[in-house]
Amino acid sequence: TVRVRFAPSPTGYLHVGGARTALFNYLFAKKMQGSFIVRIEDTDQSRYQEDALTEIFTSLTWLGLEWDEGPEKGGSYGPYYQSQRLELYETYTQELLESGVAYHCFCSAERLASLRAKQEADHRPSGYDRHCRHISLEEANKRRAAGETSVVRLRIPDDETIHFVDEIRGEISFTTNELDDFVLMKTDGYPTYHLANVVDDHAMEISHVLRGDEWINSTPKHELLYRSFGWAPPKWVHLPIILAESGGKLSKRKGAASVMDYCRRGILPEALFNFLALLGWSPGDDRELLDTAEMASLFSFSGISPKGSVFDTTKLEWMNGQYLAHASAERLVEEVTPFIDETVAQFPPLMEAVGLLKSRCKTLQELGEALQLLCHDPQEYPDTKKVVKALKKNGVEALFSDMIDLVSECREFAAPVLEEAFSRYLSEKELGFGRVGLPVRIALTGQAGGPSLFELMEILGKETVIRRLTRCRK
Ligand code: GLU
Repeated sequence: TVRVRFAPSPTGYLHVGGARTALFNYLFAKKMQGSFIVRIEDTDQSRYQEDALTEIFTSLTWLGLEWDEGPEKGGSYGPYYQSQRLELYETYTQELLESGVAYHCFCSAERLASLRAKQEADHRPSGYDRHCRHISLEEANKRRAAGETSVVRLRIPDDETIHFVDEIRGEISFTTNELDDFVLMKTDGYPTYHLANVVDDHAMEISHVLRGDEWINSTPKHELLYRSFGWAPPKWVHLPIILAESGGKLSKRKGAASVMDYCRRGILPEALFNFLALLGWSPGDDRELLDTAEMASLFSFSGISPKGSVFDTTKLEWMNGQYLAHASAERLVEEVTPFIDETVAQFPPLMEAVGLLKSRCKTLQELGEALQLLCHDPQEYPDTKKVVKALKKNGVEALFSDMIDLVSECREFAAPVLEEAFSRYLSEKELGFGRVGLPVRIALTGQAGGPSLFELMEILGKETVIRRLTRCRK
């Protein structure tokens, strides 16, 4: 059975790269009818941030990445916080110490710092110089009993090649000479990422590790740990990097916004989901709009390209526009609430207005702005210049007076009726649509472009239409 995990460290917000990792785990679990687990890797006490945790849960939930096991949900492999599993790591550390695979290191922070400085000065690769390797467990225990503190390091064998298969990249090998005796257990009694990650993936029976490419250098260390414990490693799936539009790897520093930023900008969760899924994965044809169930059924590692893919914001907005156009007006009335003021929220035909505008907007924020413009009488007429000429030719006062009459006489204030009355007027006066339509549109909305003029008028209602025309007649 497939068991996969998303293992965030609560050190900051969940950015879109992390969300993509979570999402691929989720899709693979769904595809294989396996379990998607969330595990919190909170063993770095110095970088722990309380609100990061809440933000991570909110982001995953908003995106629809519901987990089968993990915090709040529980499950039979818990606890799902590494800080609550310290005894387990301690037990396994003892096992490695007793079998001689690991050893205590008493080197002070100062010694390690000067070692690093020396290696740098000599242009040698940095890494621990095995200073404490010879200290026996017995001696180490004596020193610890006498009050000395130590870390525990893994004894890396010399001149060995570690091979592993990555499901996306194929065979990968590292030589152990590239690795130093890395730390498993810190002086504060907390494990390092490497130890805790391996112990938990084993204890939680994780079948596939899907994680970002940046962890690939850690995998040989993990392979060695699995071997030291005599455990079978999981399958490795390192996800290709996401590139920033400006070039280079997308990172928090390079504009990787948080998931909740996209929510605040008015991106729908299913649009972000769809967009992130296609960052590096393709369903095998050129379809771009797929729902979760389709993506899950088509998901496979062979559809993941080892090449990086660019985070293209324009494409995300295009996609979001597609989702907005297809979403129901009922739902969008709810979703758009944070982007409109109270007057607009109370606008009686809000639903109709949303229905009219939704296919013309790329984000909920844009939809909110369009609604604001529609529902409030225009304060400015930024697009007037374009029609000044037309207005002058026709005499704006006469035209608007005619329009006010025309509108007042409409027995039924519905788009087709208005359109008919309009056409009659145009042919009587032998005028083109633009000559009249444009000034009227500007009077009603302040803008030269927008949805169908007659549908717009129907939504605004007779009273508002007359009021806005009257304001412009003077
Ligand atoms: N805690 C690691 C992170 O923050 C998890 C890496 C892994 O999946 O092994 O990304």
